[in-house]
Amino acid sequence: MHVLIVEDEKQLSDEIKKYLEREGFSCEEAYTGHVASDKLWSNSYDLILLDLGLPDYDGIDLLKEIVKSKKESPVIILSARSSLDDKIKGLDLGADDYLPKPFSLLELKSRIMAVIRRQHGFRENLIRINDLDIDLDKRVVLCKGQQLLLTRKEYDILIFIVLNKDRVVTRLQISEHIWGDIIEENYNSNYIDVHIKNLRKKIADLSGSDYLETVRGVGFRFNSEG
Ligand code: CA
Repeated sequence: MHVLIVEDEKQLSDEIKKYLEREGFSCEEAYTGHVASDKLWSNSYDLILLDLGLPDYDGIDLLKEIVKSKKESPVIILSARSSLDDKIKGLDLGADDYLPKPFSLLELKSRIMAVIRRQHGFRENLIRINDLDIDLDKRVVLCKGQQLLLTRKEYDILIFIVLNKDRVVTRLQISEHIWGDIIEENYNSNYIDVHIKNLRKKIADLSGSDYLETVRGVGFRFNSEG
């Protein structure tokens, strides 16, 4: 999962980044609204953490930009402003959740997971799909009851494809999701194919089936019927 942290308190931002990276997310930071705005136009994020009180920008305006950009990145507002007005305004404008400061990192993570799950239509942290039982919290995948031994990248790619089940995800989307900042011309899509090949093999070894479909010239799709 690729997360953008928009927060001008560097110490807090760095703390969130360090924590989320330990939990398997990849993070980018924007300490100002202008940096955030630039990043929003050039990158895609699975989630945006947005501080409303920025030195150079009104967080509410940034939220409007995010919604307008139609990239469908969910937003969690982090705010020291605890007025009901701000909260209602933020949620009305399309934010997915609102977390007043101070908050615990554990709570932040559980809100993040809830928002991402909801966005993809899953209600729980345990996903059962085809032969797979996925524990999003523990980052463990069982296939027919046996644990799949996945590398971090394989896990991240699998989850991204599963969350978008029955839709085609492109190599570029996978790449952005896993590695974040990428320059289109330089990214090597073979790299992704290698991970997919390994994933397929590991799943097929335990399940005997292959539900990671390759859509020629486009990308991949998790076939939840398969
Ligand atoms: Ca602030």
